[in-house]
Amino acid sequence: MKSPDHMHRFLFEEHLIRGQHVSLDASWQQIVSQSDASGVALDLLGHALAAAALMVETLKIDGSISLQIRGSGAIHLLVAEATSSHTIRGIVRQSRELEDQKSLRDIFESDKLVITIKNGTAKPHQGIVPLSGDNLAEALQAYFDQSEQLPTQFVLACNVKGASGMMLQKLPEDSGDADAWNRLTLLAATTEPEELLKLPVEQILGRLFHQESLRVFDPDPVEFACSCSVERTRDMLLSLGKSEIDAIIEEQEEVSITCEFCNSRYQFDKVDLGALFNDSDASQISPTRH
Ligand SMILES: [Zn+2]
Repeated sequence: MKSPDHMHRFLFEEHLIRGQHVSLDASWQQIVSQSDASGVALDLLGHALAAAALMVETLKIDGSISLQIRGSGAIHLLVAEATSSHTIRGIVRQSRELEDQKSLRDIFESDKLVITIKNGTAKPHQGIVPLSGDNLAEALQAYFDQSEQLPTQFVLACNVKGASGMMLQKLPEDSGDADAWNRLTLLAATTEPEELLKLPVEQILGRLFHQESLRVFDPDPVEFACSCSVERTRDMLLSLGKSEIDAIIEEQEEVSITCEFCNSRYQFDKVDLGALFNDSDASQISPTRH
């Protein structure tokens, strides 16, 4: 049996090459059930979530990484976020049918992927990845080669039941075996999507790398979670400014804001809205969450 919703880390002890495998199952199914996406859009979201979950593990941060593509194509928005506490969330938005767009650039009508890394209270760090290649794995590999100078390989797979990914990364130190990286990545590239999605990690690694001395670490569970909250929604309303909020109060009895990631609904009535810009009244704010 495979371990659903788990991240495994492993190390090729003789080669200074590390690896990870992630299986997103119930966490992914929850995202699928909340989304109206299907086909290519859903595949891209699954691939991006698996990649984000793999990448956050390499960062040694207390925070999150998000992969975001915005464009004017048939699929116009993709956001995949993973946190250092092993949670994922994501959305994808499609506005029209895909025709025969093949490359990511055509699908999104965009030429870049934005990677945002948040670490504690530090200012978020943004990196821009050219949308090169035919798939997300190729685009991310090019990013690691160029910006991080850490050769990295991604193998990603997705269906409606699960999203899985495997990553190999060459550590900066030299192991003395110049061919090891090529050999191991060629092997990893032979993994079929079905294998990645269905087999236990031990079986995948055993089949691919039975000749290598491999250390597999204890896995970490991964789950779906959303970071939205009453406080964050209130901050968002505050950022609109007092005159905007006054105009809303004039027009309607209450404001209802739905989180795109988890469909939670936050309702603010006139009293809540009126108190937003009045600190002394802050204690009266009691918006409801559904
Ligand atoms: Zn939410």
